[in-house]
Order: sequence, then C-alpha cells, then structure tokens
Amino acid sequence: NRRIVLASRPNGAPVPENFRLEQAEVPSPAQGQLLLRNLFLSLDPYMRGRMSEGPSYVAPVGLGEVMGGGTVSRVEISNHPDFRPGDVVAAYGNWQDYELSDGTGLVKLDPALPHPSYALSVLGMPGFTAWHGLLAIGEPKAGETVVVASASGAVGSVVGQIARIKGCRVVGIAGGEDKCRYVVDELGFDACIDRRDPDFAATLKAAVPQGIDVYFENVGGAVFDAVLPLLNVHARVPVCGLIAHYNDTALPAGPDKLPLLSRNILTKRIRMQGFIISDHYGPEFMEFLRQMSGWVGEGKVKIREDIAEGLENAPAAFIGLLEGRNFGKVVVRIAD
Ligand code: NDP
Repeated sequence: NRRIVLASRPNGAPVPENFRLEQAEVPSPAQGQLLLRNLFLSLDPYMRGRMSEGPSYVAPVGLGEVMGGGTVSRVEISNHPDFRPGDVVAAYGNWQDYELSDGTGLVKLDPALPHPSYALSVLGMPGFTAWHGLLAIGEPKAGETVVVASASGAVGSVVGQIARIKGCRVVGIAGGEDKCRYVVDELGFDACIDRRDPDFAATLKAAVPQGIDVYFENVGGAVFDAVLPLLNVHARVPVCGLIAHYNDTALPAGPDKLPLLSRNILTKRIRMQGFIISDHYGPEFMEFLRQMSGWVGEGKVKIREDIAEGLENAPAAFIGLLEGRNFGKVVVRIAD
C-alpha cells in the first residue's frame, strides 16, 4: 500500500521534499468495514492550507501523516451490508492505494457513468462550489456581466458556463493564450483575458464596457486589483478562493489598500460574501447534482481534466496546480 505523507511543512511554495512516498501493509477490513482501492484522487488548492499549521476551517495534516483528499474508489472487500465488491464510490480518502472505510460518507456512483472521475470535478465538490457560489451568492441576471478568474480550471470553468446558461455576458481571466483560447472556443465564454498580459488591467477594462455585476473571486492578488475599479453599483462578489495568496508568508508591503476596498464597498453598495462549500452538503447538493447532471448530459457544461498518471506523481501535480501549470481539473489516476 503506497502512500504519500507530509514530510515537512512548506515555507512559501511547496517543494517535492515536503512529501514522502512510503510503503505500508494493505489493511484488512474488520466486521462492518470495507477495503477500498483508490482509482482517482482529486488534487485541490485547499490542500495547501492543510500543509501549514495555524487556525483554518480544516485541521492541518500532521507531520508524517498521509495527505487527505477526495477519491473515486472501488470496493475490493466488503464486510458491510450496504456495499458489494466492485461497487464504485466517491469517498473522502487519502493519497494512497488502499483505504479502510466504515461506509460513512461514501456515495455510490452509477455504474453507467461514462466518466467516474467527474465525481471529483463537475459532478462533485468543485462543480458544487461553482453552482452554489454563483447562483446563491452571485445571483446573476440575464444581460449582466460576470467575470471569473482561473477560468479554465475546475471551479472557474463551471462558473462561466452556468453564467452563460443564465444569459450573462461572461469574461474569463486565465494564465496564457492556450487557456484563453480554450475558454472562448470550447467553453463559449464571450471573452477571456490573459492575466500575464502586461496590459492586463486595460484589456480587462475594454472587455467589460458595461462594468462588472458579478465577480466570482477565485484568486485575489493583482487580478482583484484590476477588477475592483470596474465593479458596478450593487455588484456581488462571492469570495471562493484566494490562490494568489496561499503561499504568502507575510502580508504584502504597503500601500494599505483596505480604505480603497472599503470605500468601494460602501459607495457602490457591493456585497462581498465568503463561503466554504462543506457547509452546504445535504439537500442542496442533491439539487445541484440533478441540475448539473442534466447540463453535462446535454453538453451545456463541459469539463477538461488534467490527469496525472500514478500516485507517485501527485506531489508534482499538486505543486503545478498552485503555479498554474495545470490545464483543467487536476486528477491523479492511481489504478484502473
Ligand atoms: P484550478 O483548477 O482553477 O487551478 C488553480 C488555478 O489558479 C491555476 O491553474 C491558475 O490558473 C490559478 N492561479 C494560480 N496562481 C495564481 C495567481 N498567483 N494569480 C492568479 N491565478 C492563479 O483550481 P480550482 O478550480 O480547484 O480552485 C479555484 C479556486 O477555488 C481556488 O482558490 C480554491 O481554493 C477555491 N475553492 C474554494 C472552495 C470553497 O469552498 N470556498 C471549494 C473549492 C475551491 P491560471 O493559470 O489560468 O491563472
């Protein structure tokens, strides 16, 4: 049973030495337990937070402990009445080959699903994040302008496609020409701006002649600086993620931009609201799954997966995700 543990805590950006590949025994399930074979592992930006100590909404991973993550897994042995060998489930597991489970939190996947790994992206946590954040907090209306960054990624790509379904003008922001071309040509956004363009702020301004009504915040940093002056009166800003800051070790050097932000919030009556998607599972997730499965089935929402082959490649794929080297939802294929 290969597994990847946290070997040391990163100082700034994670490096390969922060991870260690170990061998352990394949565990035996007791009465009431299952042995799961992990097939796909989801890599997500929040895992960076769990590598550091300090208070957050999820507990840190301990040194020497196996890294956690969402998986799609196959039941190998079942001593549990509700599961049979061969069942495929979505689980919250770990960066390893095999898991023990008592069945809690497992979601059986339809064996007819053409892409079981979609349970880690468009039909799972990132898709639910996009759906809830945009619809419940962003409240987009037809004809409004919606802007989202990391637009080719797991969350951003789904945000933009839902906003198109709702009749909005949708402008993506992404790192590089290839990603921008994909976002417009394949996902149907109205425009996409390269955040690495030296004229990024001016180009973004030109792409939103009516201003911005909904800014779905995935990144923070220089992107937010360019967005803030373009927000309209009564704009909504679902604050989903701040990936530009996850490797920060201190607050940025001045000037202090808080008064500028506060003045904009006040004078433009902006509503900024943070959310953590794990608060919203339950009936709302079932409603999401019903609607999103329909859109995916009809081809109205697409997802691009960036698949890393082999558990041993998970650390490099994760480091790449935080640097924007991924192109689509990052998934590790552990086994067939
Ligand atoms: P993505 O698939 O979008 O991958 C991350 C992307 O972030 C990179 O590809 C890159 O895109 C972009 N990025 C990296 N560094 C920077 C930077 N310095 N400035 C701007 N962009 C950067 O990841 P996800 O879709 O899984 O996650 C997107 C965001 O949503 C993250 O902030 C994540 O933490 C958040 N999230 C929040 C949840 C919640 O409950 N609140 C749940 C799930 C996700 P590019 O090169 O195109 O710029």
